[in-house]
Amino acid sequence: MRTISANGLILPVIGQGGWRIGEDSDNEQNEIAALRRGLELGMNLIDTAEMYGEGMSEILISKALKGIAREEYLLVSKVYPHNAGAPDIFISCDNSMRRLKTDYLDLYLLHWRGDVPLEETVECMERLVSTGKIRRWGVSNFDVADMEELTAIPGGEHCAVDQVLYNLDTRGIEFDLIPWLEKRGMGVIAYCPLAQAGTLKRMHKGILTDEVLSSVAKKYEISVIQLMLAFTLKNTRLTAIPKAGTPQHTEANAAAADIQIAVEDWDKIDEIFWPPTVKMRLDME
Ligand code: NAP
Repeated sequence: MRTISANGLILPVIGQGGWRIGEDSDNEQNEIAALRRGLELGMNLIDTAEMYGEGMSEILISKALKGIAREEYLLVSKVYPHNAGAPDIFISCDNSMRRLKTDYLDLYLLHWRGDVPLEETVECMERLVSTGKIRRWGVSNFDVADMEELTAIPGGEHCAVDQVLYNLDTRGIEFDLIPWLEKRGMGVIAYCPLAQAGTLKRMHKGILTDEVLSSVAKKYEISVIQLMLAFTLKNTRLTAIPKAGTPQHTEANAAAADIQIAVEDWDKIDEIFWPPTVKMRLDME
């Protein structure tokens, strides 16, 4: 699997999402198998949050990782905004590590901006790094103005990534946020890269049955979902974190890393799913 450098932290271009897993015991075996298959295929970044199932996602992930050497995978978790100051963030981080059965996180993110001053969150994140509980920290759902504010704070420049909503149907960040992060060597983690299998409706309804996407997918003998994932990987500084509940879906997603689409086909897609030409408000799920 290809990798990117996110302010020095090496991440695979496709990782694995952890939202809505661990919440239904009937799906447990499939979810565990999906995550383990992903690791075999090089998707060795697993994304979760204290919010996901109020810890149930982290617990399921720990079951999937049982017996696998710690250096074989990267764990990303997120703190709720209301817990992003002292002492709550230290308790949240310890709780996430306990549920994940690990003694460090590779990346710890502020899930979205809340009322705790950014200065305090940065100071706490830096303390977590210096005590070895996390390797690096980052943010999520931050637009350019938030990033400007963050990086003006001492230590703010250590932010490794911004995790944001990005898929074919919502491309606003191409205009300003992606270039802003790239210029500073920070990584972009694209969440909902599959637009939640077409259920996340923004501008276009029924994305999975869109005629242009379907015809391009057919030409390359891939699914529209794989085409959507290949789209996010056109940007070489970006990691996408699709969530898959079965090993079959994980395999299809991993295969997207090797899909090559001709420029004229991307141009056809751009005519329907326009790249931004002006600043757009950051989209959030
Ligand atoms: P997503 O990855 O865009 O889509 C997941 C959906 O796609 C699931 O219904 C899944 O079904 C389906 N799917 C996966 N692979 C498929 C395939 N090859 N063929 C057909 N269907 C497939 O949505 P998401 O889970 O919302 O986003 C991904 C991750 O981003 C989350 O899990 C979470 O880690 C993160 N996230 C972060 C934020 C944030 O605020 N920072 C917000 C949202 C999400 P099955 O389950 O049946 O495989």
